[in-house]
Formats: sequence, structure tokens, C-alpha cells
Amino acid sequence: MDCIFCQIVAGQAPATILYQDEQVTAFKDIHPVAPTHLLIVPNKHIASVNEIVPEDEPAMGQLFTVAKSLAEQTGIHENGYRLIVNTGAHGNQIVYHLHMHLIGGQRMRHPIG
Ligand code: 5GP
Ligand code: ZN
Repeated sequence: MDCIFCQIVAGQAPATILYQDEQVTAFKDIHPVAPTHLLIVPNKHIASVNEIVPEDEPAMGQLFTVAKSLAEQTGIHENGYRLIVNTGAHGNQIVYHLHMHLIGGQRMRHPIG
């Protein structure tokens, strides 16, 4: 298993885990770009959005539900935040285990892209 996020999900690599259930795991990004920067990943290894299959829909939906809960827990829900899923080379995806960035605690730069 050479995927760092699979290792974090399995408890075989260190991470500050804020939430975990049967389908998803959330942990702090190791290089935060804002006061709050969390990653929410499916426990199943899905390399990117390009590899999603219909059976993954419950886990994909759960990424949003957990993002909402963590935004509330970290107190950024009222001011707002940004959810990002980078995909492939043009998306600047670095880790090929699908993940949602939850970024907040400061005003995001605009425009994106
Ligand atoms: P992306 O693939 O969406 O471009 O970004 C990958 C993100 O994963 C980056 O924000 C990076 O800081 C984070 N990251 C990479 N390796 C690790 C790690 O070993 N632990 C944690 N907690 N985050 C990581
Ligand atoms: Zn993985």
C-alpha cells in the first residue's frame, strides 16, 4: 500500500484525524494554506474524480455532509469557506487518492482558476 492517504485511513501513517466512520476520514492538511485546512477522503482508494463509479455515490455525498459538520465544529460555517476537489494535471492534483479540501478562516482569494 503505497498511497499515503490509504495509510492515514488505516492508521498506519500519522495524521490529526478529526472524524472517521465506515466510509470517510477527515484529517488536517500537513501544509495548511489557511487557518482551517482539512482534507476529507473516502476510506476506499479512489484515485480521482475520474475513477468514481455509481456505487461510490453514498461516500461522495458523505464528503459534503462531513464537510458541513466540520465547518460548524471549527466555527467557520457562518463566514463561509471553500471546498475544492483538484483533479488531474490541470487541476494540480498531487495526491492521487480523491480528497475534498475544506479551507476557511480567512477570505478566499478571487477569482479561482
Ligand atoms: P492536491 O492533491 O489536492 O493538490 O493536494 C494534496 C494535499 O495533501 C496538499 O494540500 C498537501 O499539503 C496534503 N498532503 C500531502 N501529503 C500529506 C500527508 O502526508 N499528510 C497530510 N495530512 N496531508 C498531506
Ligand atoms: Zn489511497
